[in-house]
Amino acid sequence: MLLKKIHARKIKDSRGEQTIEIFLNGVKASSPSGKSKGKHETPSYHNSLGWNIKFLNSVSFNIEINHFNDLKKLELFIKKKTKLSDIKLFGANALFALECSVLKSLAKEKHLPLYKIINQTEKKLPVPVGNAIGGGLHSHNENHPVFQEFLLIPKEKSSKENYKTMKKIYEQIRKIISAKEKNDEGAWQTSLSDEEVLEILSRFKDVRIGIDVAASSFYKSLTYNYKNKFLDRITQISYINFLIKKFNLFYIEDPLQEEDFEGFSKIDHSPQHLVVGDDLTATQISRIKKAISYKSINAMIIKPNQNGSLIELKQIFDICKKHRIKTILSHRSGETLDNALADLAVGFQADFIKCGIATKWREAKLERLVEIERSLKK
Ligand code: PEP
Ligand code: MG
Repeated sequence: MLLKKIHARKIKDSRGEQTIEIFLNGVKASSPSGKSKGKHETPSYHNSLGWNIKFLNSVSFNIEINHFNDLKKLELFIKKKTKLSDIKLFGANALFALECSVLKSLAKEKHLPLYKIINQTEKKLPVPVGNAIGGGLHSHNENHPVFQEFLLIPKEKSSKENYKTMKKIYEQIRKIISAKEKNDEGAWQTSLSDEEVLEILSRFKDVRIGIDVAASSFYKSLTYNYKNKFLDRITQISYINFLIKKFNLFYIEDPLQEEDFEGFSKIDHSPQHLVVGDDLTATQISRIKKAISYKSINAMIIKPNQNGSLIELKQIFDICKKHRIKTILSHRSGETLDNALADLAVGFQADFIKCGIATKWREAKLERLVEIERSLKK
């Protein structure tokens, strides 16, 4: 496929904030955008004032792209033309949407599904991690839980069944907590406390439960600031370990602030639990290597637009596999209707996909996963 010209434009994400969409040979791809951003993630498109959109609309690429690895040629081209010292300075959102549109266009030309452009052979499907109740920075109500996400991790035999189970429990939760409003990620809003929410979730025995503490968002002046208590680092570690035991938590994301690699290693790492880095690792190779050397995590969130480069994303999956770190490919709180996340999860052979449960932006990814499953069975 000869990549010549593309068309890029600004669009609004599910939260009404600006992001980028790219058109190429009749396909389109877009980037989501986050709110509880990691300090170390690659800056996104809207931090770079749109100059990259102007560049993308004016440049003639003339690059032959036939395989996934040809994205390297594209990155070198952009670096040279823009005279950037690092490809990431192009903006993670713009780079990710561009690379994704190129892969989608290649898939269309080869009459293949997108995931097969990344990986022709492997067929494992990721298990969904779904946000059922929300707190923290994604909430609009004043009185909300401190933790950002309360998650369901189903254990059925198929993606279709997993999706069904999550939806069923999500609906049952609505009734129990009399929820009326959804937050940025389509999770129920509530004024219950963290432990009250966990008590409700732990009643559902046919699903595993998890939390995204997003601890950096309430860490100020060396203290974890809960509404009615202020915990120092050591007390936060024991509190999280207490919650893991009390509620049999399967999944614990960002239990400590994003610089505390050593503290993460003190969270209960028994093989039954996933201690997950998100803001800690920020989808950056140097941070992942540091987390490995400190034994901080046994699982990691990978957000394509926290990095931008799909070439690097592949390297990150390889590093995780080598070090037996479970991978969770993740959406952002501000999403578009693009469903490529499901194809990327299958293509890169992610262990889990975190993309919410409800609202059209999240359902687009889950429905695509079910569609891939159906096509694999044929
Ligand atoms: C997260 O912290 O896992 C998340 C999805 O948040 P955001 O997209 O707002 O950064
Ligand atoms: Mg997170």
